[in-house]
Amino acid sequence: MRWRLLGTAAGGGLPQWNCACRNCESARLRGERRLQASAAVSGDGERWYLVHATPDVHAQIASFPPLWPKPPRRSPLKGVLLANADLDACLGLLSLREAAELSVFATGAVLDAVRSSGFTAQMRAAWRPLRLGEWVRLDENLELRAMMAPGKAPLYFQGPTSPEHNVALFIRRGRRTAAWLPTLAEPTEELEGALRGVDVLFFDGTVWSDEELVHVGRTAREMAHWPLSESLPWLSQLGARRILVHINNTNPILEQDLLGDVEIGCDGMEVLLE
Ligand SMILES: [Zn+2]
Repeated sequence: MRWRLLGTAAGGGLPQWNCACRNCESARLRGERRLQASAAVSGDGERWYLVHATPDVHAQIASFPPLWPKPPRRSPLKGVLLANADLDACLGLLSLREAAELSVFATGAVLDAVRSSGFTAQMRAAWRPLRLGEWVRLDENLELRAMMAPGKAPLYFQGPTSPEHNVALFIRRGRRTAAWLPTLAEPTEELEGALRGVDVLFFDGTVWSDEELVHVGRTAREMAHWPLSESLPWLSQLGARRILVHINNTNPILEQDLLGDVEIGCDGMEVLLE
């Protein structure tokens, strides 16, 4: 199973177009950037699945030749997997709407929220609802499972909030499993138990402290992100390789290369699970 991180920033990327904070200025001056958090995963190197479809999806596909189409118009992209319906996780579907065949896998609540937004109205997608805890087959090699992870409904969604609005995605090939969890408000025993069995965990690296998002008028917890200053001890006792993704432009870890035994993900990073 091959993973490629296509983006590792939270919504807006790094630098953010309207922000002149220290991290954004530093990235701007050095010509560095992080696209919004997304990955590509494949079990055979031929069929690929996007884990989140961000507003950066065009640039992300262009950045990774295995995702380029084959003549005349055959894309190796077979599906999109969504852990939540936040705009930075799903707005890329708008750019993929010409796809002849694309399956979108997410819980029923996430699919309902995405479709309620209206922007997917022209999309010829196969909407594939996931039932919590049940493995489904993506192809001969890969299987997918969603497990509840405390989070929130997307801000644009008008209906009632469901516990299915945010999940951890587990992707398995044979005995190897990876988990994608870019949004977690707080851990649960069930989730912790499931994460103990994974080989690699892509985890919520949004903020360091709860007060970091004051400019949006909310605490990190209110935005369903568990601050790293509190989650790191919990992460450190899990057995998996841990890689942070969805890193907000405000996060001071962007000035660091190392964070103990937890890795700071970067765009283009690859993980092979044999
Ligand atoms: Zn900034």
